[in-house]
Amino acid sequence: MFKLDSEDELLAAFRPKDRGQVELGHGMVFPLIVRGYTAWVHPSGGKVFLIFAAAGDAPTGIVFSTNGAGPQVPNMCDWCHSSGPGVQAGMLTATVNAKKLAGVHVCYDLSCRDKLEEEANRLGKSAKPAIDRVVARMGKFASDVLKIDLSGVGR
Ligand SMILES: [Zn+2]
Repeated sequence: MFKLDSEDELLAAFRPKDRGQVELGHGMVFPLIVRGYTAWVHPSGGKVFLIFAAAGDAPTGIVFSTNGAGPQVPNMCDWCHSSGPGVQAGMLTATVNAKKLAGVHVCYDLSCRDKLEEEANRLGKSAKPAIDRVVARMGKFASDVLKIDLSGVGR
């Protein structure tokens, strides 16, 4: 769990080159308490914003683009592994650098948490272990693919 005290602190989680694209979500108030991760869709669409932090790491923000994605068909999400008719998964892309984009095939609005919580409730279990795994996969994508230092150094 982590806390963002202000819009400045939220923006500081993103790479400097991404900060200009970030729009706060409707009804977002500070301090913002986040369990594992939070994601929201740009008010006019086209982008999805993600902030996550694994234990011991700095909050990390990623700006995803939904432009150019294929049709939203029922499919499996690479992060929460939800699948079935209710799951709208598709390719979200983020910039690695000025020349390169990287994609990940996930729930289109990053609503992985909602799905895991629903499933955990149905089974009478805690959703936390599954959400922790999703956050770990987000961290792997950010560090391995986007080359973001999760400790926050150099941001
Ligand atoms: Zn998902």
